[in-house]
Amino acid sequence: MPSEQEKLPGINRLLENRYRLTPQRKSVLLALTNAGRGEHPSAEEIYRYAKKYYPSIGLATVYRTLELFTNLSIVQNLVLEDGCTRYELKRDLMHCHLICLSCGKISEADGVYSEQLLSGSHGFKVTSCIVQFFGYCDKCYEKKT
Ligand SMILES: [Zn+2]
Ligand SMILES: [Zn+2]
Repeated sequence: MPSEQEKLPGINRLLENRYRLTPQRKSVLLALTNAGRGEHPSAEEIYRYAKKYYPSIGLATVYRTLELFTNLSIVQNLVLEDGCTRYELKRDLMHCHLICLSCGKISEADGVYSEQLLSGSHGFKVTSCIVQFFGYCDKCYEKKT
């Protein structure tokens, strides 16, 4: 039976790169995991979650940890037009973001291309992918028309 730690995504990547799994790092991973797939929490939101697992964690530590996780490709960040950065655990399958200009809702559409496909047929090593579409979600579009 794998322990709870081994099941958390990103831990292997952390250890491969000789970083220790500190309680702070673990709490940020837990926060990202429990935010759920398709959620894109901001650093402040991650901080609030992480505090539940490690109450003495500081916001600066959360920022540093997110930066480390981004460099290690554990986390993918998403910079919105207003300059606000959102974070999510990196997944193998590419997806793009549909961002509503009215309410700020972020939805996802799965990409046709996976990293495996691109590296296989194009001999290209993908390290990140940012595709964002801006427009209006169903609800906001209805209100406008
Ligand atoms: Zn996403
Ligand atoms: Zn909307």
